[in-house]
Amino acid sequence: MEDTFRHKGLRNKLVECLRLKGIRDEKVLLAINKVPRHLFLESSLINHAYQDKALPIGAGQTISQPYTVAVQSELLKVKPFEKVLEIGTGSGYQACVLLEMSARVYTIERQRELYLKAMSFLPQIGYNPQFFYGDGYLGLPTYGPFDKIIITAGAPEVPKALLEQLKIGGRLVAPIGDSQVQVMTVVERKGEDSFVTTHHGSFIFVPLLKGTE
Ligand code: SAH
Repeated sequence: MEDTFRHKGLRNKLVECLRLKGIRDEKVLLAINKVPRHLFLESSLINHAYQDKALPIGAGQTISQPYTVAVQSELLKVKPFEKVLEIGTGSGYQACVLLEMSARVYTIERQRELYLKAMSFLPQIGYNPQFFYGDGYLGLPTYGPFDKIIITAGAPEVPKALLEQLKIGGRLVAPIGDSQVQVMTVVERKGEDSFVTTHHGSFIFVPLLKGTE
C-alpha cells in the first residue's frame, strides 16, 4: 500500500483538472489532494485511479467520480468538527475526503461485503469514521442530529427520517431523481418545519435501495 511521488503527482493533476471544472473550495481540493484514491481500487484499475471517472468497487457498486465527490463536498460546506452523516459508505473514499476536512464522520452501508471491507481498510490507512451496517433510509436516530448529511446514491426523494435528523441550520446534499439521472439537491433546514431546497446540476449515481443485504 504505497503512496509514491508518481501517485502524488497524478493527484496534483487531478486537483488541477477539478479546479478547471469549477471546483473553488480550497479545503475540498486540499482534501482530494491528500486521499490516496489508488489504494481504494483493485490492482487492475489502479492506473485509472486519478482519472476523473467513477470506477467499479465490487458488489455492483462504484467509487464516485472525483468531480462528483468534490461537488458534494463543496455543497456540504463542512466546518471542522461538524457531525456529518454519510449514506452509502461504498469504498469509503468520500468519507476520507470529509475526514480530511476535519469532519466527524458517521457512515452507513447496506451491503455487508462493502461495509466489512471499508471497516477493515480505512483504519489501515489512518482514517477512522464511525461505521454502521444498515439501511441509510432510516439514518441513525440515536446518533443525530447531524450538522450535515450527504447521500451518495440516487434517491427518488429525500428520505423523511434524514430531514428529521438534520440540525436546524444544517444542510443535506443528495442526488434526487429517477434511475436514469438525478439532480444534485441541497436542503437547508431553517427551522423545525422550514426547509429550503436548491438544485445544482445533473449527475448519475447508483440507486439508493431499501433494506440491507
Ligand atoms: N460514497 C461512496 C460511493 C458509493 S456508491 C464512495 O466514496 O465510494 C453508493 C453506495 O451506497 C453503494 O455502496 C451502495 O451499496 C450504498 N447504498 C445504496 N442504498 C443504500 C442505503 N439505503 N443505505 C446505505 N447504503 C446504501
